[in-house]
Amino acid sequence: MNSLNLPSTLENTLYEIDQRVDDLVGLAVDLIRFPTINPPGDNYRPCAEYIGNRLSKRGFAVEYVRAEGAPGDCDKYPRTNVIARYEGKRPGKCVHFNSHIDVVEVGHGWTVDPFAGVINDGKLYGRGACDMKGGLASSIIAAECLVDMVPDMAGSIEISGTVDEESGGFGGVAYLAQKGYFSEPRVHHVIIPEPLNVDRVCIGHRGVWWAEIETLGRIAHGSMPFLGDCAVRHMGALLARLESDLYPKLKQKRTTMPVVPEGACESTLNINSIHGGQPEIVGSGLPAPCVPDSARLVIDRRFLIEEELSEVKSEMLALLDDLSATRPDFSYKIRDLFEVHPVSIDRDDPVAQAVANGIFDMLGKPAEFVCSPGTYDQKHVDRIGKLKSCIAYGPGILELAHQPDEYVDIKDMVSAAKVMAHAAYHLLRATK
Ligand SMILES: [Zn+2]
Repeated sequence: MNSLNLPSTLENTLYEIDQRVDDLVGLAVDLIRFPTINPPGDNYRPCAEYIGNRLSKRGFAVEYVRAEGAPGDCDKYPRTNVIARYEGKRPGKCVHFNSHIDVVEVGHGWTVDPFAGVINDGKLYGRGACDMKGGLASSIIAAECLVDMVPDMAGSIEISGTVDEESGGFGGVAYLAQKGYFSEPRVHHVIIPEPLNVDRVCIGHRGVWWAEIETLGRIAHGSMPFLGDCAVRHMGALLARLESDLYPKLKQKRTTMPVVPEGACESTLNINSIHGGQPEIVGSGLPAPCVPDSARLVIDRRFLIEEELSEVKSEMLALLDDLSATRPDFSYKIRDLFEVHPVSIDRDDPVAQAVANGIFDMLGKPAEFVCSPGTYDQKHVDRIGKLKSCIAYGPGILELAHQPDEYVDIKDMVSAAKVMAHAAYHLLRATK
């Protein structure tokens, strides 16, 4: 029976997870039915309370922490986080499963109700099914089965449901990390069930720099553009230089980090938005009759662990300054919007190894170590909590995140719950 020679209490835990598949699916469906859309941060409190009520019935000590003063926090949209902790019978380390409860907007193109929790052909559909309520449900079931089946457990297990990951995590993990919730001695290992695929251990992510660049002009009558200075044309000149100079340069930069998908092993630049000129006269169908005096561009530059943020910025500034020197009347302003440094931990770190071993035992194949193209809350655990032992691992296909008809495979949720239980069991046992 026990071909893997696992300890009997772990065997019992894994068996129990199989018995609770309906509970796992029901839990994930319930979570999807809270439309926790961010922005603005809808339904955070009821979703957090749902998680807290469930876990307090199972012996977890539950705390709610509202991120007072965090961006977006107000009485209508409170940034309510939930942290639940189960103390084992003996002292030991703490393994923490952290999931964000917010989801991105629905967008177009859905063929099912995004907040109904529709199940079809072994897949659970809904906004957040993949990113990341399926992973949250797997971690809750894994923790509950461990608590029930390992009576002499050492150490402690924590589950958190945190907010605002999709908008930077300031009212969620960042806020809690500032209060010590993601640091030793309270917590020793963190697993973030983001959808990186059920057989991958994610050990880090690329860096981010978001900035707004504005080109400036002078307003004048549209019939006499020569009397003004068109900010949109200046922006066009910048776009041309990005195409001719910067994009080819970024393509040459490759990281040694195992970033997936392959295209994200290079430095990338997205142009998120561009706005120029006065708005059209609403309802009249008529254009604004002026020469635009401002054009704004928002960029999303993803950089590699081999690059310094200061270099990334000066590369853009050099291009802008060159335009200022060579193009008549070119002037600009630049404003930083958001920055995150790349993070990568050692594959030999205990939590990375424990999850990799779990994947090997539960799925019968070696884990793939990867890094994420985008950031997630690991950055706050690393930078603010100063806790290195943190990885992302969860069910769900990375590429489905934020897409219409997002889903998670029920089979993968079950496998992920087993891998999580296996990993937590060994991390707690190894450190008693
Ligand atoms: Zn996510």
